[in-house]
Amino acid sequence: MKKIIIAVDGPSSSGKSTIAKTIAKRMGYRYVDTGAMYRAVALYALRNRLSNEELLAELDKIVISFALQPDGSQHTLLNGEDVEQQIRTLEVGNMASQVSPIKEVRAYLVAQQQAMGKEKGIVMDGRDIGTVVFPQAELKLFITASLEVRTRRRYDELIGKGQNPVYDEVAKDLADRDYRDTHRAESPLRQAEDAIRYDNSDKTIDEQMEDYLRLINERIG
Ligand code: C5P
Repeated sequence: MKKIIIAVDGPSSSGKSTIAKTIAKRMGYRYVDTGAMYRAVALYALRNRLSNEELLAELDKIVISFALQPDGSQHTLLNGEDVEQQIRTLEVGNMASQVSPIKEVRAYLVAQQQAMGKEKGIVMDGRDIGTVVFPQAELKLFITASLEVRTRRRYDELIGKGQNPVYDEVAKDLADRDYRDTHRAESPLRQAEDAIRYDNSDKTIDEQMEDYLRLINERIG
């Protein structure tokens, strides 16, 4: 069967990673979470207390990889260390959206992402996958949901991870992150012209999957 590239973009907590993972599983495709890569760079900068300039000088020391777990999930590795838990905090998410506007950081990660897509059969989620990483992707989804729904999802996710979030802070954090991600000069979050916009505020995963699989089958032919 023909293999394609599926680009999944959208704002924070739009549910795009859940969707991308589910699609990858269904299709037997590789899943790549590019947000995790920006988060890993952010964690490195935080741990080493690096200024932007210092971070650029050390970029080639940052090796990011993914390790498949027995349950089928993936963990992010930073220089071989499993940092899956550490990169999921609000602090690291915020730092990620501060290092992600840096042109050299993007170039460094985008080159790695493009290399991962060489063989196709991949679902990649992020902010710039349909616009910059794979402008030639056969299917581009732009997933959105209302700020209220996204806040609730992120809040529940943080609780599920044993953290102690404050609802209003989570909402503010998401709104700030949206603003930074859509207003930066380098590869701002925006919908590719040929992307399909999908608001999933009122949809279950199963309902969404039905729609996505129909689109995928159209592309595969
Ligand atoms: O999706 P996630 O919340 O894990 O992404 C963390 C941050 O990384 C985003 O707020 C964004 O600034 C950045 N990012 C990006 N480009 C991507 C993926 C993530 O700039 N492709």
